Amino acid sequence: MDGIRGITIKLDFKNIEIVDEIKIKAEAGALLSKLSNIALNNELTGLEFATGIPGALGGAIRMNAGAYGMEMKDIIDKVTYLDENLEIKTIGNEENEFGYRISRFAKNKKEIVISAVLKLSKGNKEEIKLKMDENMNSRKQKQPIDMPSAGSAFKRENRFYNCRAYRQM
Ligand SMILES: Cc1cc2nc3c(=O)[nH]c(=O)nc-3n(C[C@H](O)[C@H](O)[C@H](O)COP(=O)(O)OP(=O)(O)OC[C@H]3O[C@@H](n4cnc5c(N)ncnc54)[C@H](O)[C@@H]3O)c2cc1C
Repeated sequence: MDGIRGITIKLDFKNIEIVDEIKIKAEAGALLSKLSNIALNNELTGLEFATGIPGALGGAIRMNAGAYGMEMKDIIDKVTYLDENLEIKTIGNEENEFGYRISRFAKNKKEIVISAVLKLSKGNKEEIKLKMDENMNSRKQKQPIDMPSAGSAFKRENRFYNCRAYRQM
């Protein structure tokens, strides 16, 4: 039988707010591309790696998404989630149990990320923009991002690279 045996939920909460000098609070549906642009406009460094990673904050936390030597683990301050008893809980970085492209939310699939506070650092706008452009250009050279992707097939190790399968339409 085709399709998904279950329900598909599109998270439509995506507010982003600056909490203080170095912290951004965002809801799980906020796009990583939008978040990294807001960080840039507020001269906050730490989110440059997320430029060009397709997807939203909730999925990125669940996956501990990363690139260019940085991952969500490096910038998460707090995560607020709905647990399996429908209680809202807030946890610190350590309690997310981040590992390579994994977190507690991958293990406990009934827990849904609602929002998170990201802790960045004050930076220089030109340098942040330069890093974002470098990352994006490197991605464009290596990945045909205008084509559908079947995702990564292999785990990245020190000597091996991710292999993503693309299909020409
Ligand atoms: C062209 C391309 C390039 C990519 N490059 C990278 C890369 O450089 N680095 C990288 O790490 N990944 C990369 N990815 C993989 C993927 O896009 C990212 O990991 C992304 O962060 C996943 O977010 P998403 O919103 O697409 O999540 P989805 O694919 O929608 O979800 C991922 C998982 O998280 C779960 N989930 C989603 N939202 C929540 C929530 N709120 N609470 C709990 N669980 C949730 C979903 O059920 C699913 O199991 C790439 C993918 C493509 C297609």
